[in-house]
Amino acid sequence: MANNMVHDIFCKIVRGEIKSKPIFQNRNFIVIKDINPQAPIHLLIIAKKHFEDISSFKKAHTGLLGGGLMIAEKISKKVGLKNGYRLIINRGADAQGGVPHFHIHILGGKKLGTKIVK
Ligand code: AMP
Repeated sequence: MANNMVHDIFCKIVRGEIKSKPIFQNRNFIVIKDINPQAPIHLLIIAKKHFEDISSFKKAHTGLLGGGLMIAEKISKKVGLKNGYRLIINRGADAQGGVPHFHIHILGGKKLGTKIVK
């Protein structure tokens, strides 16, 4: 195992060390169901390369990041989110994200309410 390998849970999923059932994947992202869903449909678009969070992206990654966002629309049709969905990206302590590996939450399957913070 290379010394520079990262060992967060999403890296392990991407490497296949933790089994998952991807709903979709391409060169840059893998989409799985969230293990602790906060809505009837709660998916995660996970970057295959390890970026700690959105602050890790450089200008050269603009296409990669945009491609990740566009997966949401593509997947929404596949999983039946015909009335829309919400995307969430946590970054930093105030957002209280749990996994230090860039991912985009897709939430939907019901009317989610207008508040995303208390
Ligand atoms: P965040 O709080 O933005 O870092 O979100 C991390 C998300 O990953 C949480 O919603 C967790 O429920 C989810 N999660 C953690 N471990 C797994 C796993 N093994 N498979 C699927 N989702 C996971």
